Amino acid sequence: MPKTKLNQPQNIALSAVIPCYNEVDGIDELYRRVTAACQQQVGQSYEIVLVIDGATDGTRQAIFNLAATDPHLVAVDLARNYGHQIALSAGLDICRGQRILILDADLQDPPELVGQMMARMDEGYDVVYGQRLKREGESWFKLASAAMFYRLLRKMVDVDIAPDTGDFRLMSRRTLNHLNSMPERYRFIRGMVSWIGLRQVALPYERCRRFAGTTHYPFKKMLLLAMDAMTSFSIAPLRFASHLGMIFGILGLFALGYTFCSWIAGNVLPGWTSLAAIVLILGSVQLLVLGIFGEYLGRMYMETKRRPLYLVNEIVSYDAVSARQDLPIHRLQERVKEVVHARG
Ligand code: UDP
Ligand code: MG
Repeated sequence: MPKTKLNQPQNIALSAVIPCYNEVDGIDELYRRVTAACQQQVGQSYEIVLVIDGATDGTRQAIFNLAATDPHLVAVDLARNYGHQIALSAGLDICRGQRILILDADLQDPPELVGQMMARMDEGYDVVYGQRLKREGESWFKLASAAMFYRLLRKMVDVDIAPDTGDFRLMSRRTLNHLNSMPERYRFIRGMVSWIGLRQVALPYERCRRFAGTTHYPFKKMLLLAMDAMTSFSIAPLRFASHLGMIFGILGLFALGYTFCSWIAGNVLPGWTSLAAIVLILGSVQLLVLGIFGEYLGRMYMETKRRPLYLVNEIVSYDAVSARQDLPIHRLQERVKEVVHARG
């Protein structure tokens, strides 16, 4: 079997990029199914990039063990847990394929669909994204909140983000180069890919149950992702804030007129309840508006720091970089950059 060297430009037809958090029970099955699916499509011209996102179970070791024996595997161990979207970005930076398949580690998105995706791409599409028809084994709350979120997002943003899609998709190299050149820190990758445009098409599929383990997207993380999506693609909430300000300004004017009339009529003491209500409502509206401003301001602040998106602890592959040496983390980062540049 030919050895793949990470630091040499390669002609790899297909990269599968998979962020993995605590997925130890599913790794072997994932590896088996993704390998089979890739081999069926492109023979030996593929790589599987597994990004270990600060896992705390045995995921890291399980992946390293596989990477030590199979030259098609590249294991990227991040310095800590950065979250799904950043881990995915790390894998997308490092992968070298001409076509790139994004997949979850839990086998909810069947890797076997890559065949149909490749066929659509052969027709000239740049992005083939999976669109969920049915989702098995997910709570009604997750289904309802996801449905609501996608519909709200579509109303708010200028970009056409397809409903019921995740990150499961096949992308062309030129699409990925555009994506990799987008530096923002708050990443909602499916939205960023939609923003790029080019020719995109949906592939309907049924989302399966997790193969093992439980979701790493509890309500709080889902909410954060939704906030990232809204704030990175739309300034509608800021507009909403000023509209709210205007509405309450007009209401305030009426209230002022009423107060004035009461004063003339000499009828000023009663009305404590209404006054208290007005103060409370106005107070909370002001806080809401300030909160919206704060969300944007905070994000701007974080962006201006221009820290690297992620740091790599080590990269393990059959023969290559194996940056296991005692390099400080910033050197590793440079190493990854060299690798990415060498890839051309
Ligand atoms: N994931 C990750 N970092 C995290 C959380 C999740 O890399 O902090 C990975 C996880 O291993 C999986 C993918 O992101 O491959 C999607 O996560 P999950 O299946 O928990 O989300 P769900 O499908 O429930 O939305
Ligand atoms: Mg999942």
